[in-house]
Amino acid sequence: MIAGYVVGAAYGVMYIRAEYPESVAIIEKAVADMKSQGLLGEGIKGSGFHFDIKVIKARGAYICGEETDLLASIEGQRPEVRVRPPYPAQSGLFGKPTVVNNVETLANLPYILTQGGEAYAAMGTQKSTGTKLISLDSSFRNPGVYEVSMGTPLSVVVEELGGGFHREVKALHIGGPLGGLVPVQKIPDLTVDFESFAQNGFMLGHASIIGIPEEFPMIAYLEHLFAFTAHESCGKCFPCRLGSVRGQELLHKAQTESYQVDPVLFNDLLTTLEKGSLCALGGGIPLPVRNALQYFAEELSPYFQSSRQAAPKPANAI
Ligand code: SF4
Repeated sequence: MIAGYVVGAAYGVMYIRAEYPESVAIIEKAVADMKSQGLLGEGIKGSGFHFDIKVIKARGAYICGEETDLLASIEGQRPEVRVRPPYPAQSGLFGKPTVVNNVETLANLPYILTQGGEAYAAMGTQKSTGTKLISLDSSFRNPGVYEVSMGTPLSVVVEELGGGFHREVKALHIGGPLGGLVPVQKIPDLTVDFESFAQNGFMLGHASIIGIPEEFPMIAYLEHLFAFTAHESCGKCFPCRLGSVRGQELLHKAQTESYQVDPVLFNDLLTTLEKGSLCALGGGIPLPVRNALQYFAEELSPYFQSSRQAAPKPANAI
């Protein structure tokens, strides 16, 4: 409602995955409660501000989190990424200017409105201000969702909030399937902010943290990442639509047949995905794969030809 008031919108859409029925029910009840108290609708409390909220149960597709795909989905169209420009703020839902934000972003607005922007900016680091929600998976002794100030050492998150691991973990996959693969020895080098992760070759993303067990083969994990991308690809651009399938085939073959992946070919595939994909799904998958190739080279070496060296990543690569 605050965002709607600021940009002059009279209508808001809450787009919630249908697989999270509790979230849908909670929000629907909140909207109904607000309506019954006269806090939504025409001329709210005599203010002249009109605002209404519609709750939409989202389709179960990862790519529907991409803003243009999300809008197409709400319009009832095939959820396929749209080329930008125009950006949604120029031409969004049904061609109208639309502000698309994650609920975590919008949840900051009441604090900023009541305490002021300077108070908000005083939290976190100079460039990554405010706080971040972090979710820890069942590898941790204390799994759950935590809110920390930006700039908090990752080791504090792992040891103090998470209580450490209850099983042996070799890497953390941070920021979703397209986020970086952080080997556990790099944990002390990182703080929870966008700059620290970028400078170290990772990506904070939405800051979910998944522990990869010591005994889980990294090659199988990488195959899963390609399979995930292939399954979730919207199919709009060739690098992602075809490249994700080819990546999975190569890694599957290397595990099941007497076959080793050509590292030059594999590097070409990653570079094509990075440079040619229209959105962050195809463009993002090379990051964790490259992290794994760098930090788990010994474990992965039986699956790659050693006679050919992959060309170094071009200086202008994304
Ligand atoms: S990168 Fe993948 S998900 Fe994104 S537009 Fe291309 S095909 Fe669609």
